Amino acid sequence: MDGVTSDNPPGTMDPAALRPLLPSPLVEAADERFTRRGLRLLLKRDDLIHPDLPGNKWRKLEPNLRAAAAAGADTLLTFGGAYSNHLRATAAAGRLLGFDTIGIVRGEELADRPLNPSLASCAADGMELRFVSRALYRRKTEPEVVTTLVPEGAFVIPEGGSNAAAAQGCTLLGRELRGIADVVGVACGTGGTLAGLTAGLTEGQRVIGFPVLKGGFLGEEILRLQQEAFGERRGDWTLDDRFHGGGYAKTSPELESFAADFETRHDLPLERLYVAKMLYGLTTLALDGAFAPGSTVVAVITGGAGAGGALAGA
Ligand SMILES: *Cc1c(COP(=O)(O)O)cnc(C)c1O
Repeated sequence: MDGVTSDNPPGTMDPAALRPLLPSPLVEAADERFTRRGLRLLLKRDDLIHPDLPGNKWRKLEPNLRAAAAAGADTLLTFGGAYSNHLRATAAAGRLLGFDTIGIVRGEELADRPLNPSLASCAADGMELRFVSRALYRRKTEPEVVTTLVPEGAFVIPEGGSNAAAAQGCTLLGRELRGIADVVGVACGTGGTLAGLTAGLTEGQRVIGFPVLKGGFLGEEILRLQQEAFGERRGDWTLDDRFHGGGYAKTSPELESFAADFETRHDLPLERLYVAKMLYGLTTLALDGAFAPGSTVVAVITGGAGAGGALAGA
C-alpha cells in the first residue's frame, strides 16, 4: 500500500498543548448507603480531564500520541465498534493535534446506513471510517490482515486503546490516589485502565474492577497487559463479574433505576455503558458489608454522560 501523506500543519502534535485538568478533581459524595457503614465515598472525576478526550481515554491516548509524534507518524489508525468511545476520542485527538485518523469499524453493514451519533462525531472530526466484516475484524491483529488494513507509516493503536503505553499512562491515576483510597472501583472494558491504575497504587490499596462485558477472559488480558507494561503482575486487584447487566450496552430496570436515583442524589449525570454499572456494583458491595468500616472508597468516573454516554439504542 502507498504511504500516507498529511495535510495538517506540523508542530502541533504535543498533547500537553491540550491543557488537561490533571490531577483530576476528587470530590466527596455524601451517600448514606456508605456513611451508614462508616465508609467514605469519593468520586475521582476523570471525566473532567478534557471535554473531547475525557477520562481514561485521555490517560490511555496521551502516551500513544507522544509515541506517534516521536515516531514521526502523521496518521493514527485504530479499531472499534459502532459506539466506541475510544474511536471518538482518537478522532478528536487527531483534529486537535493535527494527526490524520483512520477508524476501522466492526460491521460492514454499517457502511450502508446513516452514521449513528458516535460515528458521526468521528467523521466530523475528520476520521476516515473503514467498515469491515466481523470476520475480518476478528482477525485484525494477524500479520496478513494488518498489511491490508494499515497504510504504511500509520501509527496503530489497538482496539480500546489498551497497550503497554496506555497501561503506563494509567499508573498516574493510581499515583493520584496514593495515601487516599483504601478501595478503588473502576469499570472495565479491555481492562487497560485497571492494569495501569493498580500498578500506580501502593501497599494496602486494592482495586475492584467491574467488567461491563459478559464472560470473556478479562483477567488473563489484564495480566497480559501488566506483563507487557511492567514485566509482572502488579497491585492488588480482583474482578467482580456480577454487574454487567447482561453485556455491553445492555441494561436492566434495576440498573436504570439505580442510575437515575444516583443522578438525583449527587446531581451528576452518569455515563451508562460503564460508570453506572461500576457505581451499582460498588454500592451493592457497600450495602453487603464488603468493606471494613473506616475505609475510604474511591469510584473512578472514567467518562461523562455526553452524547456517547447514553445507551445509544444498542
Ligand atoms: C472506554 C471506557 C472504559 C473502559 O476502559 P478499559 O481501559 O478499556 O477497561 C471505562 N469507562 C468509560 C467511560 C470508557 O469510555
